[in-house]
Amino acid sequence: MAYQVTARKWRPRQFDEVVGQEHITATLKNAIHSERIAQCYLFCGPRGVGKTTTARILAKALNCSDRQDAEPCESCDSCRSIARSTSMNVLEIDGASNNSVEDIRELREVVRYAATEGTYKIYIIDEVHMLSTPAFNALLKTLEEPPEHVVFIFATTEVQSVPDTILSRCQRFNFRRIPTGQIAAHLAAIARAEEIAAEEGALHLLASRADGALRDAESLLDQVASFESEVSQQTVEQVLGLVDRNLYFELVAAIRDASPEEVLDLVARAIDEGTDSEEFVHGLVELLRHVLFAKVGGGVEKLDVAEDDRSRYGELADSLTAEDVLRMMQSLLDLSADLKRSIQPRLRVEIALVHLAMMGRSVDVGQLLRRLQALEGADLRPPSPSSTPNRTERSTERQADANSRSESVSEPPPESAPQSASEPPPESAPQSASEPPPAVEDLPDPVREDLDHPEQKDPPAAIDEESGEDDASFAVVRRGWDQLVGAMREAKPSLALFLREATLIGLDGHILKLGFAADDRFAMTQVLKNRESVERICAEQYGRQLRLEGVVLEGGESAREEKEPAPSPESDPTIRSVLDTFDGELV
Ligand SMILES: [Zn+2]
Repeated sequence: MAYQVTARKWRPRQFDEVVGQEHITATLKNAIHSERIAQCYLFCGPRGVGKTTTARILAKALNCSDRQDAEPCESCDSCRSIARSTSMNVLEIDGASNNSVEDIRELREVVRYAATEGTYKIYIIDEVHMLSTPAFNALLKTLEEPPEHVVFIFATTEVQSVPDTILSRCQRFNFRRIPTGQIAAHLAAIARAEEIAAEEGALHLLASRADGALRDAESLLDQVASFESEVSQQTVEQVLGLVDRNLYFELVAAIRDASPEEVLDLVARAIDEGTDSEEFVHGLVELLRHVLFAKVGGGVEKLDVAEDDRSRYGELADSLTAEDVLRMMQSLLDLSADLKRSIQPRLRVEIALVHLAMMGRSVDVGQLLRRLQALEGADLRPPSPSSTPNRTERSTERQADANSRSESVSEPPPESAPQSASEPPPESAPQSASEPPPAVEDLPDPVREDLDHPEQKDPPAAIDEESGEDDASFAVVRRGWDQLVGAMREAKPSLALFLREATLIGLDGHILKLGFAADDRFAMTQVLKNRESVERICAEQYGRQLRLEGVVLEGGESAREEKEPAPSPESDPTIRSVLDTFDGELV
């Protein structure tokens, strides 16, 4: 016998063989028993879940001369001709390719010829939502007065695109995504019948990749079985380019244990094996989805996973809060979106995961406030004894202060002068990290405003008059930079990762300006947070004390080349220290 693909060979021929849609097949069998046949059925649901298969079984059952318990007999002339697609009484139309009004008019002509005695004429229109509006109108006319013994079965993946006038004339059945466990059990039955040796975990993996579509799962089984006679978990991972799931479990544990070094190792292991970055992130999100379900859905018993994995999911679920899992998932979903347009996907993945590992567990707000208070007391100038002026006044004062500082080196552009009280204050004046921070009372409101207006244009930064000397030293810094990053990699790999993201912008006296892309603020925060380590390595490397300053570059990821430093909210020391406290998470 010629080779037949599994999905075709194992296509259900009876209602009872349809997997995962018992609520529908039972209703249809009852209807046949009681001879209450509707004139129009609408089968909706995702692809690959059995809509057209069920439509064909219904067609067979309606015309079978030897029905047994509402199931088609499979051996009468009608059953056999329908199975061979040669029946004159069953017409299958693909709505995607026969969607014009002419096609439907033609159909109407054909419908007029009644079925031969005792049989039904059945029209199966697949992807019915693809019909054009005139075609729908023509179809509607047929549905309004259908000849007796004509049955329409429509199938669609997009029921929302089917006009109400059609919907209201149909008996509607919603096909559901098939649970992974049920698909896996079905694959196991196929494997037994086909004498394919298959591990339970491997079949579960295939089933979960199919995302509820049985047909897809069967195709995947074919693909793996034709690669190697034994379907093991490892073969599945290899053929489908999946990451070893143990690695995902280890990775989530490493994030939980705040171990960025281990996170980097695991990412390297996965990606060095040739895994696609998006695929990798997708797999991790899947795992977290199960962990979340175990947490909020009432334990691991209800998880739709392989038996062997249950305890491992339980272990992760017990050691993480639901907030932790949600935060990881959210961040990974954002990462997935970023990866589609990233030119350095691997770096993106590394940064996002190290970020997660370093953010620690979900922060208690009270604890955060205490940290902020400690910061106010220790790091910043004590509050000035003066009263509590309103916000606009304070901001204007601060702006004036900033301007006066700028004037000492260069003329400020006229538009940055203090404006009327009703305008939002242009608070991101050129202040470098090395300048003394403003008074503590300025802290909360300007921070919020800066974050509200991140795009605000700022006056250009002051130009250093002794730039000639700095240029020479900067060239030295530049030459030794890669070596410095290498040295950092030995000492603190995650920090080296963030330094690698930085663009050397310039040397201003002893201040070394590092530029970071706007979407890399996290990297900048981490570098500045660890500035002491970096500055120590700088001293070893260059034999002089340098002070780091972070600058946000405009233009996102592509802004790799050196450019005019764009002053940003983060270059304000007050804001930066607050961002540091919040781990740069305020967006
Ligand atoms: Zn039959």
